[in-house]
Amino acid sequence: MRKRNLLLIFVVLSFVLAGCNKKNNTDDQNFNYAVEKFADLQILRYKVPGFENLDLKQKELVYYLSQAALEGRDILFDQNGKYNLRIRRMLEAIYENYQGDRNSDEFKQLELYLKRIWFANGIHHHYGCEKFIPGFSPEYLKTLILNIDTINLPLKKGESVSELCSEVFPVIFDPNVMPKRVNQVDGADLVLTSACNYYDGITQDEAEAFYAQLKDPNDKTPVSHGLNSRLVKENGIIKEKVWKVGGLYSPAIEKIVYWLRKAEGVAENEKQKEVISNLIAYYESGDLSKFDEYVISWVNDTDSHIDFVNGFTESYGDPLGMKASWESLVNFKDLEATKRTQTISDNAQWFEDNSPIDDKFKKSEVKGVTAKVITAAILAGDLYPATAIGINLPNANWIRAEHGSKSVTIGNITDAYNKASHGNGFGDEFIYSEEEKALIDQYGDLTGDLHTDLHECLGHGSGKLLDGVDPDALKAYGATIEEARADLFGLYYMADPKLVELGLLPSQDAYKAEYYNFLMNGLMTQLVRIEQGNIIEESHMRNRQLIARWVLEKGADDKIVELKQKDGKTYVVVNDYVKVRELFGQLLSEIQAIKSTGDHAAAREIVENYAVKVDPQLHEEILERYKKLNLAPYKGFVNPIYEAIVDDNGEITDVLVTYNEGYAEQMLRYSKEYSSLPSINE
Ligand code: ZN
Repeated sequence: MRKRNLLLIFVVLSFVLAGCNKKNNTDDQNFNYAVEKFADLQILRYKVPGFENLDLKQKELVYYLSQAALEGRDILFDQNGKYNLRIRRMLEAIYENYQGDRNSDEFKQLELYLKRIWFANGIHHHYGCEKFIPGFSPEYLKTLILNIDTINLPLKKGESVSELCSEVFPVIFDPNVMPKRVNQVDGADLVLTSACNYYDGITQDEAEAFYAQLKDPNDKTPVSHGLNSRLVKENGIIKEKVWKVGGLYSPAIEKIVYWLRKAEGVAENEKQKEVISNLIAYYESGDLSKFDEYVISWVNDTDSHIDFVNGFTESYGDPLGMKASWESLVNFKDLEATKRTQTISDNAQWFEDNSPIDDKFKKSEVKGVTAKVITAAILAGDLYPATAIGINLPNANWIRAEHGSKSVTIGNITDAYNKASHGNGFGDEFIYSEEEKALIDQYGDLTGDLHTDLHECLGHGSGKLLDGVDPDALKAYGATIEEARADLFGLYYMADPKLVELGLLPSQDAYKAEYYNFLMNGLMTQLVRIEQGNIIEESHMRNRQLIARWVLEKGADDKIVELKQKDGKTYVVVNDYVKVRELFGQLLSEIQAIKSTGDHAAAREIVENYAVKVDPQLHEEILERYKKLNLAPYKGFVNPIYEAIVDDNGEITDVLVTYNEGYAEQMLRYSKEYSSLPSINE
């Protein structure tokens, strides 16, 4: 927040208003979605349409929640790996202070490495989890470190530069040290072989035993054990170090709480105020039952225009799926687009009743499926710079069953993706014929959005566990099975005449665009995200290949879906869309049975058979074709800047949003303004 005198505010305001009018007239033409491209990444920016129309109090609320969001960035860096903050700060010090040749190849490689670390919130790939290989030598790095003033370096008290180097160099350069952030290879000790910072000196068996003894099988409303702590062994005793005010990550959490208190003061209504105060109580106590109270109040707050996620939320970064990475998203409702998801959720019971799963796994009453399209105002933590386009929370099964869940699709982010991808040559390369291209041109964006809506609004919320089934029974396979379930639910209904009847699709053929896109992605094109020789580990990717490979195999005799060769290239050909839908229905039924009964053996078999392995020849071909397109397989975003304008009394008189910050510029600013944790957190 910057304080300014009134005259200056006036000047700034009229300038911005003039700029605004101009932008409205030419709409998208002036907005630069593309920021920059490096490695396998493309950086985009997103618009926040409608922010100007919020009233002052709402703008203030967004502002405070955005500050609370940005304060958590360092937490995620540390969660992703013990040395991440130290390495980031060391490289930033060089990047900002090195006076030598900044145009040499090695310096450019160092810059690239730092940009990748910013993107991944650590030294491992954000998606594939493998450690980055630096394109510069240890000797070169050492020269640079010695070249800058030690005052800029993240040295511990009394530590010499050589000691710093000998601690972090193996982490950066030795391929055998911390090679994977999250290791999912079947049979390995997943805890010991994962570099993420959720366990220290603990084996997988010890971690599983520790949490098994905390679980009470008769507890119908269990807290999410392990969610907000690091599990450590000290003097032979295994214990949790809780992330809270006064605990681990306290300096960052205190700042988050500071901004949340400000937000509490301008809440839109009592319900929202309660949500914020419950979250503060949880951050202050670290008590997981308070987390559940917060979550329940959050689920119940459906009327507020502004909403947010702030906290330890998703557990994809823990090989055991318990410990949650820190993330934040601040958003407000996109009222026009929400009509679409409202229609879906209004009909939730119809979808549940007509689903092709066994009746005993169906919910007799689908509760609280709220759905909305939102406009993201800020992305942070594990949602920045790479972000999800749909979110469905909370994760605790009993809370979802008793209190419902909130589903959102992020309209302005999806829009930015779509705008940035049109005409990039991808479809021309991978889609089989003009017929499919025409379908996808006409319906692809719409059916993609709709599939996401169905996945988030209905898919995750459908079905139920049989009584007595442990929600974690599927262990490491749980996330893949859950994502497959949600995707299949959406895919199955995409082709249902009900969607045309409800006005969600303009034609009974439109669904084919999504079927083709999904199968092409699952069978071939998502492989562009995997390096040659690697297997698939990320659960959403596993889920997509599971579905696509299963359908390919089960429909092989009738040639329902084929991989065909044309001019020496492989293409997906769908010969019978109606049969594809039947197969999606069959697989949904199987996957739901695995989930509902907690059948770990069946989950393992189907995931290991269909979801993990990659055909090396096809993979090589796809990578080669993709490389020629010169596109980046991963995308992320820089955030807009929110600037509070303050009068002489310290009152906020307006909040301005601007979009012109660059990528490195934003990262360096965040590292200065929102960086309260020590380099090593123990
Ligand atoms: Zn999902």
